[in-house]
Amino acid sequence: MKIDEFPKDIQPHLLPSHEGRLVYRCLGCAAQFEIEQLLYVCPECRQVLLLEDTNFERLKAASGAFWRRIFDYRKMLTVPALRGIYRYHEFIGPVIPLDAVLYLGEGHTPVVSANVPLRDELGIDFYFKNDGQNPSASFKDRGMASALSYIHSLIRRGILSEVLAVCASTGDTSAAAALYGAYLKPRVKSAVLLPHKKVTPQQLSQPLGSGATVFEIPGVFDDCMKVVEALSDEYPVALLNSKNAWRILGQESYSYEIAQDFEYDVSRLAVVVPIGNAGNITAVMSGFLKFWEAGVITALPKIVGVQSDHADPVVRYYREPQADRRRFAPVTVRASVAQAAMIGNPVSMPRVIHMVERYNQTAGRQRVFFAAVTEQEIMDWQLAANRNGHIACTHGGETLAGLRVARERGWVQPGDIAVLDSTAHALKFSGFQDMYFENRFPEEFGIRPNPALINQPVYIRPKDLEKVPAPGHPLKDEEFQRFVRRTAEDIADRLGLRKHAGPGRHSG
Ligand SMILES: *Cc1c(COP(=O)(O)O)cnc(C)c1O
Ligand SMILES: [Zn+2]
Repeated sequence: MKIDEFPKDIQPHLLPSHEGRLVYRCLGCAAQFEIEQLLYVCPECRQVLLLEDTNFERLKAASGAFWRRIFDYRKMLTVPALRGIYRYHEFIGPVIPLDAVLYLGEGHTPVVSANVPLRDELGIDFYFKNDGQNPSASFKDRGMASALSYIHSLIRRGILSEVLAVCASTGDTSAAAALYGAYLKPRVKSAVLLPHKKVTPQQLSQPLGSGATVFEIPGVFDDCMKVVEALSDEYPVALLNSKNAWRILGQESYSYEIAQDFEYDVSRLAVVVPIGNAGNITAVMSGFLKFWEAGVITALPKIVGVQSDHADPVVRYYREPQADRRRFAPVTVRASVAQAAMIGNPVSMPRVIHMVERYNQTAGRQRVFFAAVTEQEIMDWQLAANRNGHIACTHGGETLAGLRVARERGWVQPGDIAVLDSTAHALKFSGFQDMYFENRFPEEFGIRPNPALINQPVYIRPKDLEKVPAPGHPLKDEEFQRFVRRTAEDIADRLGLRKHAGPGRHSG
């Protein structure tokens, strides 16, 4: 719809005009720093940063109802810069000019309800929010749209001329970074560091296809991360890991979309997310807190963070009920099908600690919960979900397994509605499905296939046929007819089908 066709009182607000004043805020010493520089940790105390709008009070001056109307009307706009995460521009990047916004189709991913059999099995209504339907097939595109739009704005202002963007990755960060970086060619070049043999073939093909320089490093993600940190400390590179606070800001869009999808009534929601480097869960909490502070929502949903027991440092930290006795200790990770979350020393741990405390305090009771699940549960639930019409990745399976734990412990009850983050597309992790179906998981995963969930192709080649078609060698006439008839008979036999009574409908 064209702007002059919207209601008169809405028109002036369709295009954002709020003047945000963003600063980096240190979570250690609370110092603030200007955003005209690429900064990842506090120069004073080395702690991680978050972006803060020091002009946020102005957003609170408008009513929640005002913002809800604006966001709902913006849905009808066709302005590309406002079609993705920047529909919530005032909350997500109020210093990014619209002409610097990079929009590659990210955000506004579908929320798909579980069917009756699956819902009955869990005893609760729930939805998958399919973040695998983002352009590089994972939620990482949300944060990358933000980080690269910011870099783009610095390039346009002449503060930067050439950028070498680097990241370490469990696969999806590099896919997203390479994609968004490629769009800003030639000003931006990307290099990505991956743990050798610890990303899936699909994830490896993505940055290669986008033209990034791809380095494979021995070890696991945590080792790659240290190398990237050394690079960004000593060389002029832009770090695109979630240490970069712009990534967190963009990923807050996930919460804003959920709020809007549920008509801003989030009081009965439980949002379930997998945790790796812990950027995503930080962003999800931060997003709901901001919407709450501005009155856009009037309750805070429950949050359930889930980890595999092969990589569970966050769950272990929160296992200690008494806050002052909690001590963070990195863990040595073991093989996990939730491979993108196979991280033993999450960069965003201080952010999580900070946000969980604020979140529970604001809600006035415990609203954030953490659950560990087994590798077996992750695979079984992923496959179960997809047998009921979903496209969940292994991390989506992890959230479903986590929901089951949350039900068992009474964190969520019938009457609640769960929203599960399927963070990537099932196809990125189809190799684990193959291993399951072919019963060839290495011992270290500890996964035994449940025969009821195994599915494999059946090769049909009628034994009594001398000849079958081959590429470049089609069959003709009689031979072909016979091949078709016999193959159909064998398939019908396997499927337990019986012929129509009377003459065939398609004879000849
Ligand atoms: C990155 C990633 C995660 C983990 O998210 P964090 O922000 O690192 O906690 C989970 N699932 C997928 C598919 C990912 O790519
Ligand atoms: Zn500091």
